[in-house]
Amino acid sequence: MTLCDAHCHFFSQRFFEALGREKYGAQSDVNGDHVASDLGWEMPGPAETLADRWAAELDQHHVTRVALIGSVPGDETSVAVAVQRHPQRFVGFFALNPCAPDALERAKHAFADLGLRCVCLFPALHHYRLDDRRVVELFEVAAAHGGAMFVHCGYLSIEARVRLQLKSRLDLRCGDPLALAATAAGFPQVPVIIPHFGSGFFREALMAVDATTNIYLDTSSSNAWVKYVPGLTLTEVFRRALATAGPDRLIFGTDSSYFPRGWRRVVHGAQRTALDEIGVEAAAAAKIFSGNFERVFGQA
Ligand SMILES: [Zn+2]
Repeated sequence: MTLCDAHCHFFSQRFFEALGREKYGAQSDVNGDHVASDLGWEMPGPAETLADRWAAELDQHHVTRVALIGSVPGDETSVAVAVQRHPQRFVGFFALNPCAPDALERAKHAFADLGLRCVCLFPALHHYRLDDRRVVELFEVAAAHGGAMFVHCGYLSIEARVRLQLKSRLDLRCGDPLALAATAAGFPQVPVIIPHFGSGFFREALMAVDATTNIYLDTSSSNAWVKYVPGLTLTEVFRRALATAGPDRLIFGTDSSYFPRGWRRVVHGAQRTALDEIGVEAAAAAKIFSGNFERVFGQA
């Protein structure tokens, strides 16, 4: 079966450098490798090297294509290098803060010139509402360029920041799927992905899917948010999501990020098991594991 993963992070040199500036101060000359070593993670090397590392990893696990997320605002070019190097394997996503004065220009450049396909928003981290005018303007840019939006709603935990003991002042109220639905409904041509089934706002994420035609849920990560709902299991999450969103609106993802851990086969296995327990039909599983990804982002 073809396997496409809609949620992998591209932790480039620039990603680690940004963390280093936060940890050691903007004036410090700490480099990305130093921070990677602080974390006990593999040094990424230049974007070309990391791109090849990812491609080899996907070969090993028989993963056809993945969405690679440039995970810190300003790192669009690293992902663009990876996509240009392996256009059959990678679809480029990029983190953006809509409150930044150059946000719209960055988005236009990334879509039009760099060949990236999806803006990633982290409203709880950057403190804005999802029905904010600046978000609506980003949707306008995405619509004009055939782009997609990825919006992290619900609880947010960034492993690298936690491990480096960097404070994240989160406003979790900003990650409201219902505010996102209000904006997304105005742009039915723009695919919108909410990762981790809404990451704790499961009910609201399902309502957002129901209220729109263009919101998808990604199934990625260990989905540790189920702890907020007593008795909820991953199998039950899939059962309810299939009953409401249906197999056309669920997109498989792992939330893989750093090496040497690499592609998270165990996350794939847990989801496969959950779907087997429900007895989901092969055709529905194929949509979740690749068909919907290819419908949204096109064939390679
Ligand atoms: Zn992620």
